[in-house]
Amino acid sequence: MILDLKLVGGRVITMDPRVPEAGAIGVWRGRIVGLDDVADLPAVRTVDLGGATVLPGFIDAHTHLAWAGRARRTIDVSGCVRAEQVLDALRAAPGDGWIEGSGYDRRALDRPLTAADLDTVSAERPIYVQDLSGHACLVNSLVLRRLPSVVSDGWLTETDSAAAHALVLPYSVDEIAGDLHHAARQALSEGITLCAEAGVGAGLLASSPLEVAAYQRANLPIRVQLMVSANVLHRVDAHVDDGVARAIDLGLRTGFGGDRLSIGALKIWTDGGMMARTAALTEPYEGTDNTGELLDERLAILDGHAAGWQLAVHAIGDRAVDFALDTIAEAQALDPRPDARHRIEHCGLVRPDQLQRIADLGVIPVVQPTFLWAYGDDYAKIMGERRAPWMYRGRSFLDHGIPIAGSSDRPVADGAPLRAIEFMVERQSSGGLRIGPGEELTVEQAIAAYTLGGAFACGLEHDLGSVTPGKLADFVVLDDDPRTAPRISAIRVLDTIVGGQSSEV
Ligand SMILES: [Zn+2]
Repeated sequence: MILDLKLVGGRVITMDPRVPEAGAIGVWRGRIVGLDDVADLPAVRTVDLGGATVLPGFIDAHTHLAWAGRARRTIDVSGCVRAEQVLDALRAAPGDGWIEGSGYDRRALDRPLTAADLDTVSAERPIYVQDLSGHACLVNSLVLRRLPSVVSDGWLTETDSAAAHALVLPYSVDEIAGDLHHAARQALSEGITLCAEAGVGAGLLASSPLEVAAYQRANLPIRVQLMVSANVLHRVDAHVDDGVARAIDLGLRTGFGGDRLSIGALKIWTDGGMMARTAALTEPYEGTDNTGELLDERLAILDGHAAGWQLAVHAIGDRAVDFALDTIAEAQALDPRPDARHRIEHCGLVRPDQLQRIADLGVIPVVQPTFLWAYGDDYAKIMGERRAPWMYRGRSFLDHGIPIAGSSDRPVADGAPLRAIEFMVERQSSGGLRIGPGEELTVEQAIAAYTLGGAFACGLEHDLGSVTPGKLADFVVLDDDPRTAPRISAIRVLDTIVGGQSSEV
């Protein structure tokens, strides 16, 4: 046998307990065919890793490639600290149609902006500025007039925000494909080999009724699994024996596709986010009477489960987590599916009494550690002292036998897995605040969240998540070993290999 690729001279952390470490990997036709036992086989290409560390390719189990890539053609106001800076940036918009901004963060500004402020930028051009969270936006009066049922000073959240964004749409398939390439290259440079795109087809983050065509056309350098927005479910006249009330066209569902592009879970939104103060809480945000917004998506959960989908239920606040767990339990009682492997996206605030329920229902939390690194100081304040340690848990999930999948929710937060892994180990925000003492993971456990855990959450553990013969040849090559490096986030990604193809980062 002649291998296509042979990696030698490395320190391979396989994440496979049967053979935890190796020095060589053999690749043939995109798959791993052996470890140290291939060292003597001939190969078309042999790479001496010179002592570099190799891990399985990182999996970002919840991200938004299209949205992240779109930043390249909108006006990014994420760095602004004064309201006037945002307005100046928008005034510089070229062209004569929509003025589209992104990365708006009113918490960082000296004062929040209103429609009247945006009117000083332009009263003739419609202006839409997306909030960093994706759950809100700011628009000018011209846009408000096109939303006659909405009463607002320009700041819109959730459904109203989606209605405003719908006015901007659609983008063309070429534009979206370009955005995807931009975002995929960024992910690749950070060692990511599979991204699970968190919601296509409709809802808050839709881009076109043809958007899946963009993923097909783009021929991306990474693997992508598409979560489908539950908003596209519609009634179908299937045979009564199928028990399917609502589906997407052609009966496509979780598991369809190949190893480069496939359909994953059904994405269902049950609340907002902490950043927009719309995550649904049992008790109000500290010092307010606001308990966030709960969306009653009970039917989507029941119908999606009955139709055979894996569910990815967005639930950030503990009240939304209760709702998700209650409804998943109801769905399982009606139609037991032992390996349904439903996920809770974010699972951001989990009370101690909810942990055992998550374990009992076999639900996988898909967490975003970097949220706490970037925004943890703010989140700790709005949750208060008692609840702050419940945010984006780590160790207590594992102690209850709950698997964790790591993810970024990019562009809501930085997407580098090494940054997130470091946070999971240290639990320290960028402002120096320790969040959730006792929730620290070991380096190996944190790496597992971005490899084995992600593969499990995406239903792809037979192909991905560890360096094991038979699995796909996806690796990240690092210039230091995360188990011993002084700062994990400072480790450089030397190469990311997808299906045996080097990306030459
Ligand atoms: Zn998301």
